[in-house]
Amino acid sequence: MKTVSILGATGSVGVSTLDVIERHVDQFSVVALTTNQNIDLLYDQCIKFRPKLAVVANVEHADKFIAKFKGESYMPELASGQDGLKLAASMAEVDCVMAAIVGAAGLPATLAAAAAGKHIMLANKEALVMSGDLLMSLAKQNNSQLLPIDSEHNAVFQCLPVGNDTCEIEKIILTASGGPFLTKTLAEFENITPEEACAHPNWDMGKKISVDSATMMNKGLELIEACKLFNVNVKDIEIVIHPQSIIHSLVAYPDGSMLAHMAYPDMRVPIAHALAWPKRISSGVDVLSLTEIGALEFSKPDYDRFPCLKLAYDAMDAQQSATTVLNAANEIAVDSFLKEKIRFTDISLVIDATLQDIEHVVVDELDVILEKDQQARIFACSFIRDSLTRH
Ligand code: NDP
Repeated sequence: MKTVSILGATGSVGVSTLDVIERHVDQFSVVALTTNQNIDLLYDQCIKFRPKLAVVANVEHADKFIAKFKGESYMPELASGQDGLKLAASMAEVDCVMAAIVGAAGLPATLAAAAAGKHIMLANKEALVMSGDLLMSLAKQNNSQLLPIDSEHNAVFQCLPVGNDTCEIEKIILTASGGPFLTKTLAEFENITPEEACAHPNWDMGKKISVDSATMMNKGLELIEACKLFNVNVKDIEIVIHPQSIIHSLVAYPDGSMLAHMAYPDMRVPIAHALAWPKRISSGVDVLSLTEIGALEFSKPDYDRFPCLKLAYDAMDAQQSATTVLNAANEIAVDSFLKEKIRFTDISLVIDATLQDIEHVVVDELDVILEKDQQARIFACSFIRDSLTRH
């Protein structure tokens, strides 16, 4: 029986994780579940999976959550705030941690899981973009196995040689659906609404990652994530547009072989892989019908219409704290776009201006990372207020 803690249980990845676990209750038991503020869903999940610990990160909702258990024979222990998340990530009873909180808010708990030597199923890509070197070295020091949940990185993981030895590979090819605006002209980008940006053609995801997919910053974050996870250089990674999202990524070898991972676009596939690794379990997703799919298409990304992708390359070139700044500025810009304070096309302007303003330094400690993250957030907010005043 593997024991699992799910950070971000009420989100899209969290819900899919519980869906897979429910199919294999003889193999997995849920020890901790966390939410930010969705206490209704967390309550339902607790009643069904009976974890020992429930964490409501937003303290204001904690009392209301506990009141829901009045009259029940079962009540989980309750924790809140970042300390509660770190506890859920590092409890002695837990074998595997699903890191599925969105954004920088997930970093401290993911680091706590690595420090505690847990088997980490990593969906929270922002943690790697913000502090990849620190997270990877902490995981190595503490024998913490990192299993990628992002479908592309999970695909690469499955196509790499045993032991993830990237010395003998030619290159990694990350596929990108291109998002909902793949065929829109630049002139049409100005008036894109949050609703349109969140309507991804292939994947059903949380709002932040959906907007990232629409700007293609998601692929930029994934480029950085791949460099950190697999210890490869940017030049060893190619990004290819593949609108059907059937091939999730590929690894090319010097002998001309290319290995691809293929599946229907459903997060339960990488989640089931990571939960059962090194074994295999059913995910609830059908095996592909190749004849029904018919044709697969591939093309090059367009950096003029999707400048966020280019900014991610720039940040990776600058290295050090630039990717921390890129991530923070993107989180502020996406949030402002979702709140209709800025236009879709302003997102890249905010990130570009922030990357240019903040000095890049060597990051080897969490304090430095958090300081850069804060500086970038403050600058991005003031840039939006002072320079993008259309609303
Ligand atoms: P969602 O927005 O659907 O869910 C996010 C989860 O994090 C929710 O449980 C949310 O709680 C919680 N959360 C949000 N803010 C905080 C906070 N400040 N403190 C503590 N918890 C918080 O996101 P997704 O599931 O879509 O994505 C999660 C992560 O996985 C992201 O990093 C994303 O990039 C990555 N990912 C997602 C994929 C997908 O298909 N969705 C695919 C690949 C990667 P609440 O419900 O209360 O808001």
